Amino acid sequence: MALTKKGEFWYGTTSGDTQAELRSYSVANRHEAVRFASSKCDCGCRTFALQTDEQAGVAIRTCTDCGQEHLMGDSADYVEEAAPEAHECVCENEAFELMSGVSVYEGTHDVRWYYIACHCVECNLVGVFADWKCEAGDAAAFLAKV
Ligand SMILES: [Zn+2]
Ligand SMILES: [Zn+2]
Repeated sequence: MALTKKGEFWYGTTSGDTQAELRSYSVANRHEAVRFASSKCDCGCRTFALQTDEQAGVAIRTCTDCGQEHLMGDSADYVEEAAPEAHECVCENEAFELMSGVSVYEGTHDVRWYYIACHCVECNLVGVFADWKCEAGDAAAFLAKV
């Protein structure tokens, strides 16, 4: 397990690689992610199309297998004002494994910043595709809904 760089992009193969890239992005953002969770559909599938609106704080994942849509984290609270846009990899694929990470307020378990990292199932690119300041309360409860 190791991240490799080609041009300006990072590539990896495992969820650990995706988590490592998320953490390094979050450190550069000065809100280090300390808790992580990968997304899994109720049907067991782990690949999704992803739509986000960072301004509104909304992320929607759509299962590539059964088509179920899920509002990630606390997105349901903000979806009415949102205009989510679909993400596409540089290889033009739109199916990703998703890793969520959060930073918390010091000395608490309360979410401060939310990151969503993607692993492209076609070309193995990994990267944080969306992040925003997020006041969602308890991190464990939040990450149970990604
Ligand atoms: Zn599914
Ligand atoms: Zn790709």
